[in-house]
Amino acid sequence: RSNNTVMSAVRSESTSTCPVLTKFQKDCATPTPFLRVIANAIAGDMQAGLAVHGGGDLEMILTYVDALPSGKEEGLFYALDLGGTNFRVRSVQLGGEEERVVATKSDQLSIPQTLMIGTSEELFGFIASKLAEFVAKEEPGRFPLEQGRKREIGFTFSFPVNQTSIDSGTLIKWTKGFNVSGMQGKNVVACLNEAMEAHGLDMRVSALVNDGVGTLAGARYWDKDVMAGVILGTGTNACYVEQKNAIPKLQNKSSSSGTTIINTEWGGFSKCLPRTSFDQEMDKESLNPGEHLYEKMISGMYLGELVRRVLLHMCKTSDLFGQSVPAKLATPLALKSQDLCKIQEDNTDDLSSVGSILYNIFEIKADLKARRRVVDVCDTVVKRGGRLAGAGIVAILERIERETKRMASGQRTVVAMDGALYEKYPQYRQYMQDALVELLGHDLASHVEIKHTKDVSGLGAALLAATNSIY
Ligand code: BGC
Ligand code: MG
Repeated sequence: RSNNTVMSAVRSESTSTCPVLTKFQKDCATPTPFLRVIANAIAGDMQAGLAVHGGGDLEMILTYVDALPSGKEEGLFYALDLGGTNFRVRSVQLGGEEERVVATKSDQLSIPQTLMIGTSEELFGFIASKLAEFVAKEEPGRFPLEQGRKREIGFTFSFPVNQTSIDSGTLIKWTKGFNVSGMQGKNVVACLNEAMEAHGLDMRVSALVNDGVGTLAGARYWDKDVMAGVILGTGTNACYVEQKNAIPKLQNKSSSSGTTIINTEWGGFSKCLPRTSFDQEMDKESLNPGEHLYEKMISGMYLGELVRRVLLHMCKTSDLFGQSVPAKLATPLALKSQDLCKIQEDNTDDLSSVGSILYNIFEIKADLKARRRVVDVCDTVVKRGGRLAGAGIVAILERIERETKRMASGQRTVVAMDGALYEKYPQYRQYMQDALVELLGHDLASHVEIKHTKDVSGLGAALLAATNSIY
């Protein structure tokens, strides 16, 4: 608390003297009534996207996941996870209702940058080779494969996919740091199958799932009150349980009772967002200009870059870091959201660790006044991001509530949350939580639990492979 008092004193003193900063803070402000407008606009685009394909900014993808894990799943299944920064392979031995997860093993590696912007053959060849290595070193487990039975995979693919069935779908577009050529419109599972065949792997993809869906499914396995899966990491997304009869665009009316999972792809939201010239310039120079604008304001890949751009501009227009503009400050993506977090963690009077972070990354020698301004810029960007993310979660929760009235009747409603930004950034988390309570009100919010469920998307994908096993 006393630190907060110090920090707010520091803050008011520093902002009053820098017009660029003052304007930026004003442009980024997200007072409650404005957040309400945003939440309603997201809800409107959700409804529009459920009505017709392409009806709104949010894709509202039908995932074909109607049955969530029950706990009774049995057998050996695999999970592949291709996401923002890491690639993961996992095996899961499921022992049914009593034993649940008997054993699980996994390998994780970061995806070489060159593969993110190379060809699909290179990317899927890499995936298949890592999968082959993983399977080769496997020991016989409790569930030896029966003769003639293929190993089954749940494939978590963390990009927008036009799902054509539970085990196939075509890539709508790349997001985050990916821009693999020639893949738009292609069947993602076919690409993987080809690569597996080339590596002599006789495995079968039984479920193709988004990471948000995997998180929801994995968390639901342990907790029946989980109604949504949200990712706040390199990128962002939300998936939730929807009533089938509330989805006008659902083709197969014969099965219109019950529920299904919707992948919102909320990163594509774009209306009435408080975008500054810095947001616009960053977007223009990104791998996917004009796309995923909400994601670019709230997810981990972009927050540091926004701060860097603001600092660079402050440098050019004032003597923030002395007379000249430090060369390294002009390097795109030099500042990461982890750095922002460390900057905001500094509680010392002279902001000494802010000073050393600036020196280590940019070779800048910043005086106390400059350090304070840097802290202010970080806080402004992170506050806006966290609060906007909160507004999105409110839109999802209010939609669920409209259809089920579960919170009003006192039922606990859980949002399963994954992603390093949420996990590792306490200020971001707090800003998000503040927005949630401001918009939902204390009563409804008291029935909501945001539950950090780390790395359950692999388990979720393996479970969905089990649910949709062909054997
Ligand atoms: C993708 C989503 C994904 C999210 C989190 C976004 O960029 O469009 O499909 O769920 O990142 O990984
Ligand atoms: Mg991930």
